[in-house]
Amino acid sequence: MATVKRLKLKAPFVSLLKGLLVVICILLAIFFYYSYQISIFTDLGYSKEASKFILFNGLKEYVIPLGENKTLNAAFESTDYKKEYLEKYQNIKYFNQDKFINNVNALIKRGYSNSNINMIFAHGNSDDVSEFAKREKIKYIEEFFSIPYAKLKNYDRYIAYADETGEDEETTVLIVNLDLDKEQYVDAVEVSEFSTTMLVNKHRKLGEDFVPDDLSIIDEEYASEEGLQASKIAINAFIRMYKDAKKEGYDIYINSAYRSYKDQVETCEVYRNLYGDNYVKNYVAQPGFSEHQTGLSFDVASKNSKVFANSKEYEWMLENSYKYGFIHRFPKKYASITGFNPEPWHFRYVGKKVAKYIYENKISFEEYYATFLDN
Ligand code: ZN
Repeated sequence: MATVKRLKLKAPFVSLLKGLLVVICILLAIFFYYSYQISIFTDLGYSKEASKFILFNGLKEYVIPLGENKTLNAAFESTDYKKEYLEKYQNIKYFNQDKFINNVNALIKRGYSNSNINMIFAHGNSDDVSEFAKREKIKYIEEFFSIPYAKLKNYDRYIAYADETGEDEETTVLIVNLDLDKEQYVDAVEVSEFSTTMLVNKHRKLGEDFVPDDLSIIDEEYASEEGLQASKIAINAFIRMYKDAKKEGYDIYINSAYRSYKDQVETCEVYRNLYGDNYVKNYVAQPGFSEHQTGLSFDVASKNSKVFANSKEYEWMLENSYKYGFIHRFPKKYASITGFNPEPWHFRYVGKKVAKYIYENKISFEEYYATFLDN
């Protein structure tokens, strides 16, 4: 009996197995076909997520002739994707920013062209673009934003400054980016990271606790007194310069170097007692606003003349200090930008590359900073 029963069960079991096999084969075929289809787009450079989107939204024929397109990839991955903007997305340059597609949509809605949108994204981060997209469309976007270092977030200040002063766009962007449209010592940017190209001036201050890297004692041979300190990199550059100058018959030495925040408080006090408030305001940096706190600045003197500006050493420094990485920091011609009256004796270490550029192009350190270092 048992044998018969087993035989009876065998036939439907086999057909069930066959059926299952067919289903598995079909599923496998679908799976391989699907994987193959996805691979077409991943091979083109689209993400898996974007590739699925392309496949399930019937965009295959649209995407294949285009090839890789990072903005489309971002749009297909994004929940902000708008079908009606598909052709726009395709021609917008990709920027690796949060809310990128959301911001693109907002700018398209405002009526900006693709090239305008590309320009806008190049001048700010995600938040800046979001804010910018909230305002009515600006007609002549190129006016300020054809300047590479213009910033979206400064747009209102550019307009205000240009209207008030009649300055050209380039000067306006430079002045505003450096906060020179603001009052000195007010709302200063906090600078906390040591670097040979750090910018400290009346709009950019150091904290009370800021101490330069590798603060070291300067050998008395090179200084007016014992115990002066500066950053090692600036000291070494000065020594090289000192030695070469000496070979050519020029005698320089350091009169003042690193000054701590506390030192600057005292310096201000000394000068205030000697010459009064006005002098301090014009000639002495407030605590935190002195470049001497960076450990990269030297007040240089000559062994041959009491007035440095009249010495042959001063002339030599003007023509040669850049070779050692130093710049003449506060010449008369840049006073309106640096915010400091001329200080012929004050030299700042910025490194050879930057010093050479500043020397050759006859610009202030502020201009160099605004153009190349301030992102
Ligand atoms: Zn100085």
